[in-house]
Order: sequence, then structure tokens, then C-alpha cells
Amino acid sequence: MRPTYAVTELMGDGIGAELSRAVHTLADALPVQLDFSSVDLSLENRRAKGQAIYDEAVRSVVAHKVALKYPTVTAEESPNAILRRRLDLAVIHRPVYTIPGVTSHFHALLDIDIIRIATGGTYDDQGRAIGADSAVSLRIVERKPVLEAARYAFKLGKKTGRRVTSASKYTVQRATDGLFEAVVREVAKTQADVSHNVELFDALLGKLVMVPEKFQIIITLNEYGDFLSDLACGLVGSLGIGASANLAFDAASNVRVAMFDAAHGTAPDIQGKNLANPTAIFLALAMLLVEVGEIPLGQALKATVLDLLRDGTRTRDLGGTESTDSFTAAVAAEITRRAPAIAADSLASIS
Ligand code: NAD
Repeated sequence: MRPTYAVTELMGDGIGAELSRAVHTLADALPVQLDFSSVDLSLENRRAKGQAIYDEAVRSVVAHKVALKYPTVTAEESPNAILRRRLDLAVIHRPVYTIPGVTSHFHALLDIDIIRIATGGTYDDQGRAIGADSAVSLRIVERKPVLEAARYAFKLGKKTGRRVTSASKYTVQRATDGLFEAVVREVAKTQADVSHNVELFDALLGKLVMVPEKFQIIITLNEYGDFLSDLACGLVGSLGIGASANLAFDAASNVRVAMFDAAHGTAPDIQGKNLANPTAIFLALAMLLVEVGEIPLGQALKATVLDLLRDGTRTRDLGGTESTDSFTAAVAAEITRRAPAIAADSLASIS
């Protein structure tokens, strides 16, 4: 009997249906059973059902704890913003690493996990004018999401043996960023076996470009995390190939709900043409497998995708000749070929 996991699948627009077919083909080749419950968040269905479809999505994600979301068109509303608010997804985990076969101007290797507090900072207040020539906005930092993010970051550090760097402007923004660093330090003290250092955010950006090998897990506040994600993705030349986990936590700061998605959008220009690159959604699925505890399998899926890209099995957007279907078939075949080694790794990780 294959271990079984229930997963909510949040269907979207554009290439979403093709990506979902690719995910199902791949899932059939995995040594676990994924029981998908799908909720249709396509624009047509959102217009037809209104809030009721979000209620259904929230119920399903909360029940299953993990979800895979396909890209959705932002029209009257942003489904991502609504799901973030309704599910209390306060932290975003965005791994960014060099992807073999993806052209980039940056020649060093990058491999970082960005842990971004997804609420507050300057983004919760659009500000207001004071007279004609001045304006002001509030910057909000709250203990709870910082504590959740810090516990998550240090847990990840413990699991992976990687160092945690916290980055902010605590010397200038003494109250807000000072609170952030104080909370991170509190958590660091309880995790003495995980290495931790503090960087000023501006210095971090320079060092990341000059000595990227010094950085592994980076925890930072909302707007900094936003800037850092785009810089890091730009460095590895893959704005559209990355994946993220959007996380909500329970009272003990354990992950309560995790929604995984690809960074790219609905790609209407290539919809239905068998041209969509499923790399990002496969990497999102790999993160989901790690989250449900299938760590060797999730890591193996990520490695399989990256190995194939490195060896030249690529879709057209990456200069290759593969279609969505042929790339998916190649990943599925390679995972099947590696199954005995993955099973041995899984056994070793249990014992
Ligand atoms: P996009 O990412 O959809 O497309 C930009 C370019 O990248 C296009 O040329 C597209 O063909 C290509 N591309 C994107 N994903 C690809 C893939 N998997 N394989 C091959 N090529 C791919 O960005 P856009 O055109 O700015 O946005 C289109 C729609 O997507 C908009 O409605 C936007 O709101 C929405 N969007 C949704 C999400 C999300 O749901 N997470 C994220 C970004 C954009």
C-alpha cells in the first residue's frame, strides 16, 4: 500500500488545466498516493459562484492542510490576496537556487531559502497626504507573524543543517526592525544548534551578489522579502520557474495550512498549445511532499527535475524542444527509474 495524502488542488485559468494534467501524470509515477480534491477557482467559476467558491476553497484547504494552487487571472479580485487573508497565510517560504539550463548573467551558485513575513511592514498602510507636499505611512511589525516565521526558519535550519540569517535595518528602524530582531533572537536562543547571524538589509544585498555562498536561510520583513525575492530570482535568471509555500500556523507555531504555488502567471498566450513548462509546479509539488513528511521523495523530485534540465531536457521557453507532455513523461520516467534509491533513502530517514 502506498502512503496516502489528501491534497486540495486549486484550479485556475490559462495553462492551469495543462499543468494539472502534468501534475496528475507525475503523481501516478510517485511511490505515494495523492488524493486530489479539486476546487475550481477559474475566473468563470468565480464570477458564477462569488464568495461561495472561496468558502469551498478555504474549507477544503483547512481540511487537507496542504494545497497546490495553479495560476489565476487577477480580474475583479486577486484570488491570491483573498486566500492569503482568509487562510491567514502570514509567511512565505521561497527557495531560490541556480537552475541548470537557465541562462543568467550571474555566474556564481545561489541556493537560499527566503522566509518572508507576508503581512505588515509598509504594505498594510497605503499612507496619506499631509497637505500638498508631504505624505506619511505607517510601518507595522507584529510579534506573532515574526515569531511564527522565526520558528519555521529555525526548524528548517535544524532539519537541513543550514544557517539562518536575519536581515533588517534595526540600526535605523529601531522600534519596528528592533522588535523583529529581538523576536528572532529569542527563537535563536532556544535553537542553539542552529547557526544564526544578523545582517543589515542593505549590506545583505551587496554580500549576496558578492559572496552568495555565505547565505542559506534568510528571514526578513515583508517589503525586504519582496525585494530580496525578485533580486534573487533575477540573479538566477528564473523569475518564472520558482515556487513558493504560503504558510499559516497554529497557536504552537506549527504549520496549520500550507499552500504551494508557481511564481508564474496564467500564460494565456500559450494556453492549450502543449507548450507550458511544468517545472515550477513540479517544484511546488516537491515542496508539498517535503511538508507532508516525504522528505527524501520531495528532494528526489526536485533533483530529478534539475538534473533533466541540466542534461538538456527542456521546454521551448528554456530553449529546448520538449512539450509539456514530453517533459512530464521524462520526469515521470526518471522518478520511476530512481524509485529504489528513493525508497532506500526514505527507510534510512525513518530508522
Ligand atoms: P505570465 O507569467 O502569465 O506570462 C509571462 C510570459 O511568461 C508569457 O510569455 C508566458 O507565455 C510565459 N510563461 C509563464 N508561465 C510559463 C510556463 N509555465 N511555461 C512557459 N512559459 C510561461 O504573466 P502575465 O502575462 O503578466 O500574467 C497573465 C495573468 O496571470 C494575469 O492575469 C495575472 O494577473 C496572472 N498572474 C497570476 C499569478 C498567480 O496566480 N500566482 C501570478 C502572476 C500572474
